[in-house]
Amino acid sequence: MSEAEQTLSIIKPDAVERNLTEKIKDIFTQNNLKIKDSKKIHITKDEAAEFYKVHQAKPFYNELCSYLSSGPIVAMILEGKDAVILNRKIMGATDPKNAEDNTIRKLFGISIDKNSVHGSDSAENAKKEIDFFFKN
Ligand code: UDP
Ligand code: MG
Repeated sequence: MSEAEQTLSIIKPDAVERNLTEKIKDIFTQNNLKIKDSKKIHITKDEAAEFYKVHQAKPFYNELCSYLSSGPIVAMILEGKDAVILNRKIMGATDPKNAEDNTIRKLFGISIDKNSVHGSDSAENAKKEIDFFFKN
């Protein structure tokens, strides 16, 4: 019997602003991911910089942090079998242009930066990212 795993998902400002939150949540639940917790928040640029620290050497880091802090986001804990990989599959490729049909980024993403969702890339990072938003 396989154990349920958790991952962190974020609905990014471009999608929250276009009222896509419920549509995106429905896609997760229809694909066997339970939403265990959810909160709508508006983080500061410093908080975004901390969250995306792994990307600090990248040329897009500053814009990425400005963007994630530019408006409300919805952070969620998703749970299910192989949740990390399953969520990445449901999200689609980073650049919506390269995302497969029916993925969230193909359906709703605007560009490589405004790509509607974040998802943890490993179980280890999922734990850290869940703590970042949901501890305390
Ligand atoms: N990003 C960007 N330009 C790039 C690559 C990435 O603006 O050339 C942004 C994009 O919003 C992406 C985030 O940085 O979602 C984190 O990048 P990562 O490579 O981790 O992609 P993801 O895991 O989100 O698919
Ligand atoms: Mg990533």
